[in-house]
Amino acid sequence: MRPGNIEGRADAAGIRLRIDDLGSGITVFRLHSRWTRLLGFESTFYLLGDLLIDTGFPHAGSLVLEALESRKIRAILCTHQHEDHTGNAGAIARRHHCPVYLRHPELRWSEGTAELAFYRRLYWGRLQEYSPLNMPESFDWEGGKLEIIPTPGHSISHVSMLDQVSGAVFTGDLYVAGSASAVMVQENLCELAESLVRVADAAPRRLLSGHGLDLANPGPHLRMKAEAISRAAEKARNLMAEGLSLQAAAWRVFPRGHLKDLVFRLGTEGEFSRRNFVASALRCAPEISSRTSLG
Ligand SMILES: [Zn+2]
Repeated sequence: MRPGNIEGRADAAGIRLRIDDLGSGITVFRLHSRWTRLLGFESTFYLLGDLLIDTGFPHAGSLVLEALESRKIRAILCTHQHEDHTGNAGAIARRHHCPVYLRHPELRWSEGTAELAFYRRLYWGRLQEYSPLNMPESFDWEGGKLEIIPTPGHSISHVSMLDQVSGAVFTGDLYVAGSASAVMVQENLCELAESLVRVADAAPRRLLSGHGLDLANPGPHLRMKAEAISRAAEKARNLMAEGLSLQAAAWRVFPRGHLKDLVFRLGTEGEFSRRNFVASALRCAPEISSRTSLG
């Protein structure tokens, strides 16, 4: 089949689903809600042969189940535990009688997923119970082999998945944008930078993210982001060592876009902010952390 658009669907709540054939056995499912359209990004999941990579967010459950009804699904592989990736894992697993895999399944209710903050309930919907098994190191599929690369940083459970035949790597939330900026409160910047380099070292030919990004030859982009994070984290640590507050350091590390950062910080009850970036940079260097108010 020639790659291209297969179909589009919509539900009464304004959630839209577009399905495209990307070639090489990859089908992409692009989900939009009124909220994601407002912020200009989508929630994306994939089918590689009969392996489902992520599952979309809970609010889109009935659309997703309907779209997958005629598909053969042997296993559900989650890039990480957040509700916009695992949101329909339980329902799909029950419908298709297939297992769900997640790295560190015992931690699936950490990082705010057990009791979602208001904005996450509004954007994505409540995460339903699911029972993941521990992620293996690789999966065979009809077109070849999918290698699992542990990529913690954004989330403790995060993995990327490299299709060794097409060279496509599925990266979830590892690389959503090119620059270093606001992060979620649980993120570990040191691990994130190492994970970006680990995926670059695997020499992927295409990057497919969990939020719509499709990048050819992603290695240099991944390395540049790792370097940008390391530079900004170093600057944050130096400023904190001078005695600045978290917020003052965040303003100095990221001199533009303060209003947008404030809106995101307040709107997410502090879960997503540049202040979190500075706090995470400090956690990478306990010797500086111990000399600050955080210590
Ligand atoms: Zn995430």
